[in-house]
Amino acid sequence: MTLSEQLFERAQHTIPGGVNSPVRAFKSVGGTPVFIDRADGAYLYDVDGKRYIDYVGSWGPMLLGHNHPAIREAVIKAAEKGLSFGAPCPAEIDMAELVSKLVPSMEMLRMVSSGTEATMSAIRLARGYTGRNTIVKFEGCYHGHADSLLVKAGSGALTLGVPNSPGVPADFAKYTLTSEFNNLAQLQALFAEHGNDIACIIVEPVAGNMNCIPPQPGFLQGLRELCDQYGSVLIFDEVMTGFRVALGGAQAVYGVQPDLTTLGKIIGGGMPVGAFGGKKAIMQHIAPLGPVYQAGTLSGNPIAMAAGLAALTAISQPGVYDALTAKTTTLLQGLQQAADAAGVPFCTNQVGGMFGMFFTDQAEVSSYQQATKCNIDAFKRFFHLMLQQGIYLAPSAYEAGFLSLAHSDSDLAATIDAAKRSFAAL
Ligand code: PMP
Repeated sequence: MTLSEQLFERAQHTIPGGVNSPVRAFKSVGGTPVFIDRADGAYLYDVDGKRYIDYVGSWGPMLLGHNHPAIREAVIKAAEKGLSFGAPCPAEIDMAELVSKLVPSMEMLRMVSSGTEATMSAIRLARGYTGRNTIVKFEGCYHGHADSLLVKAGSGALTLGVPNSPGVPADFAKYTLTSEFNNLAQLQALFAEHGNDIACIIVEPVAGNMNCIPPQPGFLQGLRELCDQYGSVLIFDEVMTGFRVALGGAQAVYGVQPDLTTLGKIIGGGMPVGAFGGKKAIMQHIAPLGPVYQAGTLSGNPIAMAAGLAALTAISQPGVYDALTAKTTTLLQGLQQAADAAGVPFCTNQVGGMFGMFFTDQAEVSSYQQATKCNIDAFKRFFHLMLQQGIYLAPSAYEAGFLSLAHSDSDLAATIDAAKRSFAAL
């Protein structure tokens, strides 16, 4: 028995499924999850001493690579002054100012401790601001695990086949309308019927929780127009895409300004952090300025702010996104050539430093329906063949992959070589 197997056995006695977040359990791909001892740069090291080239990056935050010295040092320095104050500290203002500068649509913002909190709070704010109850989300998009958002949800909910979770009262779920991602006509019809009751649309501007699906030309613009026409709030959930697809997020890439934006992952540099923000006129409805209540014991935590500020400062340097995008393109071109050479039907999607891999003979994948039609069995076998060779991919066919600046040319070449062997073995 490996040490990971022993730990997984032990964990299952006191932790449901042995994990603190479902997809980590390898339930959909089978086998035993790898327990991690430490991480550095592009690599994870498991408790049995095996090294992996990591394409999960803690599910997105590790854009600079693991254990980045500037972030580590900022955290140590901040920790020397105390771990939490429960009172304002200067780093919170630095963070708000920096985020607002990098993502100008976020005129005001509030820090929270997870992506789930950010989206849940943004939705409450949109409801409080508009005085309407109904929200619209897209099938296969995941926005964290708040009640209203676990309707046709992606990520682990989709991976494990529970997109509509038990425990969400039907009386709540009825206020969540769903529509198909990249299907503007369907959304227009929905608005024609319910538009005057719709508080907000929440969307992942690049869907990253049903694999990776970019918006088709005009889709995000169409959402903007519908929200303007019906007085609904447009929320871009950039928990994944923020600082991942470009320094200014997906809103900078596609040139569409949301009313509210949610952030997480990279903004915390690896610490538990989220944020929501947007137009001043809307944000002023949040307590204590306004009546919409939202709070957090650890919100704006000084250690988390130090980590996030160090991360954002490092990724604001010129050339970061060109390098990240080029690395990702190199990887995907190599994977595609390897699949083609082995005769395995395969295609990929990419936006900046995030990507999707699809085992399919469809020429491209641009919808939830197409993503869920892919060959999941082929993915599972590929996943394990890669894992054996020290390549750590997300243990689900419905997650995006992430690169970091720490992935070297030789890491990418080693990954492509492993993929050649894996595709051939399929
Ligand atoms: N929104 C999106 C787009 C996400 O990808 C995630 C998590 N993967 C969340 C929200 C929830 O964030 P958290 O897991 O930090 O609660």
